Order: sequence, then structure tokens, then C-alpha cells
Amino acid sequence: MTQKEVNEFINQTKFKTVESIMFGRYWLETWYFTPLPKEYHTKCLYICDFCLYFCVHKKEFLRHSRKCMVRHPPGDEIYRDKDISFFEVDGSLQRVYCENLSLIARMFLDHKNVYNTIEAFLFYILCEVKDDGIHFVGYFSKEKISTNTNNLSCILVMPFCQRSGYGKVLIEMSYALSMLEEKPGGPERPLSDLGHRTYVSFWTRRVIKVLLDLDSEDKEISINIISERTGMTTSDIMYILTNQKILRNDRNVSSLNCDRAFLEGILKYAGMPGREINMNEIRWKPYKAIALL
Ligand code: ZN
Repeated sequence: MTQKEVNEFINQTKFKTVESIMFGRYWLETWYFTPLPKEYHTKCLYICDFCLYFCVHKKEFLRHSRKCMVRHPPGDEIYRDKDISFFEVDGSLQRVYCENLSLIARMFLDHKNVYNTIEAFLFYILCEVKDDGIHFVGYFSKEKISTNTNNLSCILVMPFCQRSGYGKVLIEMSYALSMLEEKPGGPERPLSDLGHRTYVSFWTRRVIKVLLDLDSEDKEISINIISERTGMTTSDIMYILTNQKILRNDRNVSSLNCDRAFLEGILKYAGMPGREINMNEIRWKPYKAIALL
């Protein structure tokens, strides 16, 4: 990008195209520019939280709400545990839904690329199950075919439920899927400061849980076994072990300090645990590319 193109981009994205949205029954102020066509630049955009259809006129939205029969995201429901549900949506099969989803995400995330490669991603939609339907509250995306260890590309929790622990639920699901496909993973880098803190807290709890669960008879554990039991990459595990001073080096012999009181002491400062994903309730198979003949 030349400096002129950079300046043009900054000018174009300086102003919010939409000031607020009505999302289901929630009214929200947007945080960032989102690249919408001119006819959608408005003070308030109305969005159906079931099918993600959007429009600028309230009357049109009310008409849509009366007619819309959709009561859950498209795709396959891969998880249900009491009032929480996950749907897997394929970017190439549900293009309009996923494009709308990316546009909404762009309103609340300042570095999100929209449109570029939607068909290359799967979207995992976190929902609250209520009497009147299954409502969108957040999502994470994941590359269908990844040549690296990324198990999560983009993550969003809608602002109206940001203190509900749903961010941790989304991250927990990304690792649950990594474990099921037997491929250790981690988030796409770089992470924001907040993202880094969230992950360090999550990784610390995850690694320490494995160490605390070790049988007192177990005298040895390898980084690979921790990786198998957490779905984490060996480099992220090493980062936590070193950072939390669990890994000790005495005269070139490495060992882990698995003293229960020591580990529980670290846990105390690692932040609150999120709601756990019940692995028995996941109905999911890893994505398999079908070759065209
Ligand atoms: Zn709708």
C-alpha cells in the first residue's frame, strides 16, 4: 500500500457508517467503521438476530420480524448444554449470513477483514436458548483447512453480554474442537493486549488442571502429554510453565514443580474459570475437504 492509499483508507474509515444498531431486542452503539454500501449509512440499522437480515427502516424491520420464520442460525447444531448452544456455519454454504456476521463483527472489532475469504472459514455461533428461539450472542471463526496451528481466527461477544463469561466459553470450545481433531492449536497471532491476558489466564488454568489431576503415583509427565490433554500447542504450554515458574532447571535437569499448594496459589490469581464445555454433548466431525474431480 502506498502512503496515498493508506491516507485514503484512514479517511474513509475515520467515521462510523452506522451509529447504532437494534439487534433483536437490544439497542447498541457501534464502536468502529464498518464497510457498508451508502444506502445503509444510517443512525440506526435494524438487524434480525435470528437470520441477520438488516435494514434501515423500522417499519420494514417490523414487517420482517412478523414474517421471519427463522429461529436459530443456519448450519448444524454441534452442541447443546442447558441454555447454551453452538452452531457450525460454513462460509461457502451460508455466504450471506456469514457476510452479515462479519459486517456486524466489524462494528465492534477494529481490525477485522470483511469479505476477503469468508468461504475459507467455518463460523461457530454461540447462542442462548430461550423460549422464543435460539439467540445469537457471539462467535469465533476458524480456517477450514489450516496449514498452521490456528484454532481460532476471530472472536466476538456481543456487547450486551460481555460480562457473561461467553468469551471463555468460545475459547474453551475452540480447544475442545482441537482435542477432537487431535491437532493442538491456538489463536491466530498477533493478539491484542486484552486477548493476550485472556489467553494467559485460560492457558494457566488449563495447564494447572492437568498437573493437579495427576495421580500421586505419576512421577513423569511430558509436554506432549499435557498437549494431548489440553489441546494446546507445546510452545504455549512452555510459555505458561516458564512464565508461572512451574518449570525449574537444576543443573541442566528440567522438572515441574507440582506441589499442590504452589499450583493452587497460581490458580488463585489466574482469573475466574469460565463455564466448562461438556465434551459429551459435542456432536461434531472435523471438516474434510472434498476434492473436485
Ligand atoms: Zn429474520
